[in-house]
Amino acid sequence: MANQKMLGFVHTAQKMPDKRSAADRRQDFAEIYARFSDERAGEQANRCSQCGVPFCQVHCPVSNNIPDWLKLTAEGRLEEAYEVSQATNNFPEICGRICPQDRLCEGNCVIEQSTHGAVTIGSVEKYINDTAWENGWVKPRKPARELGLSVGVIGAGPAGLAAAEELRAKGYEVHVYDRYDRMGGLLVYGIPGFKLEKDVVARRVQRLADAGVIFHSNFEVGRDASLAELRERHVTILVATGVYKARDIEAPGAGLKNIVPALEYLTTSNRVGLGDSVEAYEDGSLNAAGKKVVVLGGGDTAMDCVRTAIRQGATSVKCLYRRDRKNMPGSQREVAHAEEEGVEFVWQAAPEAFTGNDVVTGVRAVRIHLGVADATGRQTPQVIEGSEFTEPADLVIKALGFEPENLPGMFGSPDLTVTRWGTLLVDHRTKMTSLDGVFAAGDIVRGASLVVWAIRDGRDAAEAMHAYAQTVGAPKLAVAAE
Ligand SMILES: Cc1cc2nc3c(=O)[nH]c(=O)nc-3n(C[C@H](O)[C@H](O)[C@H](O)COP(=O)(O)OP(=O)(O)OC[C@H]3O[C@@H](n4cnc5c(N)ncnc54)[C@H](O)[C@@H]3O)c2cc1C
Ligand code: SF4
Repeated sequence: MANQKMLGFVHTAQKMPDKRSAADRRQDFAEIYARFSDERAGEQANRCSQCGVPFCQVHCPVSNNIPDWLKLTAEGRLEEAYEVSQATNNFPEICGRICPQDRLCEGNCVIEQSTHGAVTIGSVEKYINDTAWENGWVKPRKPARELGLSVGVIGAGPAGLAAAEELRAKGYEVHVYDRYDRMGGLLVYGIPGFKLEKDVVARRVQRLADAGVIFHSNFEVGRDASLAELRERHVTILVATGVYKARDIEAPGAGLKNIVPALEYLTTSNRVGLGDSVEAYEDGSLNAAGKKVVVLGGGDTAMDCVRTAIRQGATSVKCLYRRDRKNMPGSQREVAHAEEEGVEFVWQAAPEAFTGNDVVTGVRAVRIHLGVADATGRQTPQVIEGSEFTEPADLVIKALGFEPENLPGMFGSPDLTVTRWGTLLVDHRTKMTSLDGVFAAGDIVRGASLVVWAIRDGRDAAEAMHAYAQTVGAPKLAVAAE
C-alpha cells in the first residue's frame, strides 16, 4: 500500500506519518515509478469496470479511447493497446506523465466516484507507450505520397509539433520555426525534468525529423522574417507561439536583486539539467542552493518552482498564496507532492513590499480574509488590517501567471486580430485567424492552459489547414504561378 500511495495509484489511501527525509522519499518514488511493471499495469487496467459510460474519455481533451486500451493492457496485448493509444494522441507518454489527471480522466473515473480510487489511467498510458518505444513499435509517420505543398508552423511547443506531425503524415513539406535552440517549447524549458524527462521530448522531436519535418531553430518570427514573408513561402501557416509575458508585481522594493520571474528560473534550471552552462546559475542569482526561497503564486508554475528549489538544496521553501488551499488554481496532487517534499504553504497571504538594500532580504505580506463571492463566483480577497508580517527570503520567485506578447506588433502584422486578453482571435470552427490561410492553436488562442489541450488544438488546426490547402490555398498558388 505504501508503494501504491507514493505512485499515486490509490488516491484515497490513508495518510501515514512518514519520517524519512524528502530526498529518500524522492529516491523511492523514482525507483518505484521506474519499476511500474507489466503486472502492475495489468492490475490497474483490470480495475477498469468497462462501465459503459466512459466519463474518463469524455473528460480527456483528446478523447482517448481509454476503456479499450485498458482492456487490451489487462489482456497483455500491449502492442494493440499502443496502437489504440497513439491513434488519438501525438505524445501519449508525455500526457501520461504530466496531465493533471485528477482534473481530467482520473477525476471522472466511475470507480473514483464510488470512492474506491480511480484507475491510474495516466500511469498505464505512460507504461504502454514507454514499452512501445523500448520495443521499437514507434515509427516515424512518413507520408505515402508527397503533395508538393509547403506549410509553415511558428512555434515548436506541443501545439506546433502535433500539427507538424499530422500535416507531414498527410504529405506536406512542413517547416517548423522556433526562436529557441531546442524544439519542444515549454515541454523543454518550462516543465521541470523531474516531471518530464527531456530525452522523452527529444526522441519525439527526432521522430518528427525522421518523418521529414524541417526544423528551423533560433529563428524568431518578427526578427528573422515577418509573418508576411512566411505567408509568401507557404500555402498555409500555423501560429502556435504560446504565452510568455510574465505577470508582474508593482510594489516597493520590487526592483531588488534576487527577485526573479518563474520562467527565467525554470528555464535556467532546465538548461543546467540539459548540460548547458548558465552564468546566472553559476553566480547563484538563479540557483536556490543554500537560500531561503519564497515563491509567490498558487498555480502549477509556482508548484514547479517550489519543487525545483527543494531539489536545488534550498534551506527553506515557502509558497505565499492569497487564497486558500481549495481555491488554488494548481493541481491538488502537485500541492500534496510539494508538501511531502517539505514545502511550506502560507495560505491567504499577499505580498505588499520587498525588504533589503541591494539584494532582497524578505517579503512583507498581509493576511487575507476571503469575503463574499463576486460575479465569477470566487470569494473576494480582503486585506486584514494590522496583519503585516515579514517572511525572510534570499530568493523570491514570481509565479503570477502569463499573458500573450503583442503578436501583431512582433510579427509586423497589425491586421492580425487579437481578443481583449491579447490572445489570437480565431473562428472556432475553422481555427483561422483574421488573416486568410493563417491558423492558430494552443496557449496563444486559449491563454495559459495544458499540454493535452495544445495537442488537441494542434490536431484540429492541422485538419483545418489541410482542408484550406486543398480547397483554397493550392488553387490560389496555381493561379499566382500562371
Ligand atoms: C512552468 C510550467 C509548467 C507547466 N506544467 C504543465 C503540466 O505539468 N502539465 C500540463 O499539461 N501543462 C503544463 N504547463 C502548460 C503547458 O506547458 C502549456 O499549456 C503548453 O506547453 C502550451 O503549448 P503551446 O504549443 O501552445 O506553447 P509553448 O509550449 O509555449 O510553445 C510555444 C513555442 O513557440 C515559440 N515561439 C514563441 N514566439 C515565437 C516567435 N516569434 N518565433 C518563433 N518561435 C516562437 C517558443 O519558443 C516556444 O517554443 C506548464 C506551463 C508552465 C509555464
Ligand atoms: S491524455 Fe491526459 S486526460 Fe487523456 S487519458 Fe491521457 S492522462 Fe488522461
